[in-house]
Amino acid sequence: MLRLLFILTLFYSCVPAQKESLTTGAATNPNAPSAWNKAGFPKQIYLSREFSDNEAAELTKAVVSWNTHGGFTFSSVSSTKVNDRSSVNNLNSLFDGEFGIYKAVNWHPNLPSTALAVTQIFGVRQNVGTASESIEIVEGDILINWTFPYAPTNPYGYDLFTVTLHEMGHFLGLGHITNYALQSVMYPSIGYSTFYLRPGSEDIRNIRSKYSIGVQALGARAPASSTVTAPITKEQAQNSPDTVKIILELHSDGTCKHYLNDQYLHQHHVEL
Ligand SMILES: [Zn+2]
Repeated sequence: MLRLLFILTLFYSCVPAQKESLTTGAATNPNAPSAWNKAGFPKQIYLSREFSDNEAAELTKAVVSWNTHGGFTFSSVSSTKVNDRSSVNNLNSLFDGEFGIYKAVNWHPNLPSTALAVTQIFGVRQNVGTASESIEIVEGDILINWTFPYAPTNPYGYDLFTVTLHEMGHFLGLGHITNYALQSVMYPSIGYSTFYLRPGSEDIRNIRSKYSIGVQALGARAPASSTVTAPITKEQAQNSPDTVKIILELHSDGTCKHYLNDQYLHQHHVEL
């Protein structure tokens, strides 16, 4: 029988070492790849109403860019704006079935103040303990730390499109790329002078590989496979007895610190 575990993943861009505690469970494989169930795409993403029209346009472009260059409609942005939920008391309550990009004008006290943005993901472990262990993502939210200047014309400003493009890579299950010889938006740090225009060739290769998007399949509906299963629902996931937490802390110096159940593991490239 399949054991189901929650996994809370926090991807930090440019943050110091700090973490919050969550219920812990059995050890998980830190190298298990994570992905949404492809049958559940496209995911609808909601923007908080605090974003201006121009900002919302930047966010939408970043979301759509993964579709355009990945050759698959992973997600779309709803025209319905939602209340900002980045200041909820308990960040775990963002596991609500609403996938949001939130404008955190007041940054959450449980998150490091130097985090530029956080992507929080819940997932369920599959094939636990086997070589093919993986994580099926069931929830994802992006919190943009608006105490930073998101103003690309400001010499110390950050580019909202660039940051969101990176965080959307995490939302879709991509980890970091630490080989700077590869073309990627998933390097573990983003500086104020960084501008990405679209996912890099390495990102495209990875996202297509993760979701089995072949050249031949582009624009065509892939035949149903006997292994296709329905996506795990939020309720199914929330009824799982074992909970673990994975945190990736991405520092401005380029290191990526990885915590599992609040235990420090290592600070090298972590593929999730
Ligand atoms: Zn990152």
